[in-house]
Amino acid sequence: MNISTLESWIGKTNTNSEKKPVVIAGPCSAETEEQLLNTCKALTDAGVDILRAGIWKPRTRPNSFEGVGEIGLKWFKEVKKEVGLPTATEVANAQHVELALKHEVDVLWIGARSTVNPFTVQEIADALKGVDIPVIVKNPINPDLSLWLGGIERIANAGITKIAALHRGFSSFEKTKYRNIPMWQIAIELKSTLPNLPIFCDPSHIGGKRDLIFQIAQRALDLNYDGLMIETHIDPDNAWSDASQQVTPVRLSEILSELKIKSPST
Ligand code: PEP
Ligand code: MN
Repeated sequence: MNISTLESWIGKTNTNSEKKPVVIAGPCSAETEEQLLNTCKALTDAGVDILRAGIWKPRTRPNSFEGVGEIGLKWFKEVKKEVGLPTATEVANAQHVELALKHEVDVLWIGARSTVNPFTVQEIADALKGVDIPVIVKNPINPDLSLWLGGIERIANAGITKIAALHRGFSSFEKTKYRNIPMWQIAIELKSTLPNLPIFCDPSHIGGKRDLIFQIAQRALDLNYDGLMIETHIDPDNAWSDASQQVTPVRLSEILSELKIKSPST
């Protein structure tokens, strides 16, 4: 598998001996132009590398907010110009890919509910043929390493070299303190199977509660993860999706400055 480094995505090089994680942050969902702009503007000084926002939301139950759709991509393009950071969004079918590319989104991710379905991943992979854009493959919602690997292989086979995995935990009927149980050993096995593949952790969807984000992110850095995706909202309690797990931009800055980064030799 031909895999580019994460640094090549954003033209970032690590200074000193520290390996700084690449940070993706922004709201679970784009809600309004104002909410998206205010959240992303407040992230400029937080040490964020890539902005995220969900445009199409795969909700578990119907009658929940399902995303603003294409208009949100227009807002996101304006926000990118104003804030000066690359953008990322979730795609779940070929039309999403086409629209995200049309509106110049810089990074795409495949959500956990899509990675479970090889037809969906293949449809996305086919829509990406001939396109040079970074793609992040979240783990499937069920703890199946082969399905996760299969999704990554489908994207790689489409010719994508800027590819990364994202660990967001696994769903279970069993009640635990986590929204999605991390099962770290699955991600560790993925790392040993594909040692050159960058891996992100999404402590927001693993924890489900903002108070758990720091400890989950620290564990990921202790395991040498390459990046973090953390949901951040200008007014988390009033978010239209995932309110209890989003943090303010100020809290994100604190989390990022308190995290201890392992030195590369340890
Ligand atoms: C999200 O990132 O907002 C999302 C829907 O995540 P997941 O696919 O991990 O549930
Ligand atoms: Mn979310």
